[in-house]
Amino acid sequence: MATYQFQTEVNQLLKLIIHSMYSNKDIFLREIVSNASDALDKLNYLTVSDASYKNVKTDPRIDITFEDSDKVKILTVKDSGIGMDEADLNNNLGTIARSGTKAFIERIAEDKNAGESNLIGQFGVGFYSAFMAAKEINVITRKAGSDKIFKWTSDGTNSYSIEELGADSELAKKYGFDAADSHGSAIEMHLNDDSKEYASRWKIEELIKRYSDHIAFPIYLHYTQNKYDDKGNVTGSENKIDQVNSASALWKRSKSELKAEDYNDFYKTISHDSTDPLHYVHTHAEGTQEYTTLFYVPQNAPFDMYQADYQSGVKLYVKRVFITDDDRELLPSYLRFVRGIIDSEDLPLNVSREILQQNRILDAIKKASVKKLLSEFKKMGEDADKARAVEEGKRTDEEKASIEKWVKFVKNFNRPMKEGLYSDYANREEISEIVRFKSTDESGTGDDKWTSFADYVSRMKSEQKSIYYITGTDEANLRASPLLEAYKKKGFEVLIMADDIDDIVIPSLMKYKDYDLKAVNRAGSDDELGVDKDEAKKKEEAFKPVQEKIKKALGDRVKDVVLSKRLSDSPSCVVVDENDPGLQMERMMKAMGQTGIGVKPILEINGDHAIVKSLESTTDESRIANVSEVLLDQALLISGAELKNPNEFVKAMNALLA
Ligand code: ADP
Ligand code: MG
Repeated sequence: MATYQFQTEVNQLLKLIIHSMYSNKDIFLREIVSNASDALDKLNYLTVSDASYKNVKTDPRIDITFEDSDKVKILTVKDSGIGMDEADLNNNLGTIARSGTKAFIERIAEDKNAGESNLIGQFGVGFYSAFMAAKEINVITRKAGSDKIFKWTSDGTNSYSIEELGADSELAKKYGFDAADSHGSAIEMHLNDDSKEYASRWKIEELIKRYSDHIAFPIYLHYTQNKYDDKGNVTGSENKIDQVNSASALWKRSKSELKAEDYNDFYKTISHDSTDPLHYVHTHAEGTQEYTTLFYVPQNAPFDMYQADYQSGVKLYVKRVFITDDDRELLPSYLRFVRGIIDSEDLPLNVSREILQQNRILDAIKKASVKKLLSEFKKMGEDADKARAVEEGKRTDEEKASIEKWVKFVKNFNRPMKEGLYSDYANREEISEIVRFKSTDESGTGDDKWTSFADYVSRMKSEQKSIYYITGTDEANLRASPLLEAYKKKGFEVLIMADDIDDIVIPSLMKYKDYDLKAVNRAGSDDELGVDKDEAKKKEEAFKPVQEKIKKALGDRVKDVVLSKRLSDSPSCVVVDENDPGLQMERMMKAMGQTGIGVKPILEINGDHAIVKSLESTTDESRIANVSEVLLDQALLISGAELKNPNEFVKAMNALLA
């Protein structure tokens, strides 16, 4: 027998679990049963796709037994699935592989309030959750195709042990792993004093019905029942076995016979989420292709959605046989928050994962699924907008709910949807009806006042031809930007874009319908501000001497120095050239360890401002240098950029103040 230490993160997780951060202990059974079902799925798949498993005999089932004596309370879940060898046991029941999960555990381990916020409820705590109810767990297991039997044991504190069992050992015989061709795992949970109630027929039946009814394999509950004579006296007992789940694939049932509650329960079994989904859409397609899809949008963004090894939540089935859930391509990456099921009647069962990637049938299903989801999201937004048009006090409950739903959607999923603007060219138009933005007009949806492109257009001034936006890192900063002054004066609305991807995504979009999208922090976005051309020319001529002085003082730190048409209160601002990458992009590249492209800003000067006017008459080189320095640095600061030499700025400032 060998003893091993748990990986640090497993220890952290165990501590969190045992100190009952998780408010609902019952879910451990769901987790253990879902693992049993996964193990059966895996074996099923291998027997149809891998020649070396062709001869493995399968009898997919889950058996639950319990021992309820004065001395011991034991609950055991046994499956006839893939089983585990020694390496599997070490990899699967001793470590946590996914970096997203690790990072998440670190975060809640440090968060003193994690218990109340129920953060841990946001992800499936998995196998280890069984330590909420058990003081000791034994896993007796035999991998399909192998004749070795192992026992894994732990009390959930720091370490676990693994030993090989002989086929003639008592435990091997107890679970039938002594038989040739046997395989699977038995999870034996020795219940702790606070969890004795789980060694009971009624409790188990209730939990399976509630959480695991739609597991696709039969779940049998073994129990003993007393026998009685005519007078009601106990005369003996008999062993009984009942199937306690309906084992029907919920998604195959017709929509009309399913209630919202059925959909919600099923969502919880496949997602490990403890909250109801925000939205679901169930489709049966018939005709050239026959398939079923059932998709869910969660209420909260998956905690590890932005991690590189994020696992998508969509499972692929063929004729109800599970094929894979690690195909990242089932839905495009920007829809990675969607969970659910795709079940095809037309794909061959023995399809390999490689072949799947270029499969025409699957391609068509994916395309249709994306279209369906996008049209649902669009409708969700339209419903909310319609409801919002109703006077606040007069809204029906349904209208209120549709606004609330949409606000949640935008809050959690607007950011990935924006990725779609960039990555899903074919659906760009549809997606641009779904994404929402902050704006200088604040009549949008919800607390956060979101607006759509369509809304923006409906409010546009009749003479206005472009949609204006400003990009940066901080919303408050952007709202205070001097660049907005002239647009405000004209009554032109400006979209406020503070997401780090806006600078990449929005310029690539270029247009919404017939309207050009123009960044006010770029050159070429001031054409519409209605400046008299002759007068502008005159002003530019008059500005030339000052312009030359500033240009000379700043040298190659700026791409150009120009007279601004849009500043009224502030002395200066910076913009980037029309075709240069944004300052935001530059920052992102640096954050990724790249040198950046060296984007130089264009400095726009307010010719009417007193500080600028003061340059007209002076020839004092050091004063010109200081004023120029301050004009550039303050504009950079306000734009959210970092100063390369803050001390130069302070020096210049002090010199001017003196
Ligand atoms: P998850 O199911 O999300 O992978 P769990 O913590 O529930 O995480 O389980 C960890 C791993 O242990 C599983 O991925 C699987 O490889 C293995 N495992 C757990 N239970 C079983 C089982 N009954 N049969 C085979 N493997 C299992
Ligand atoms: Mg699991």
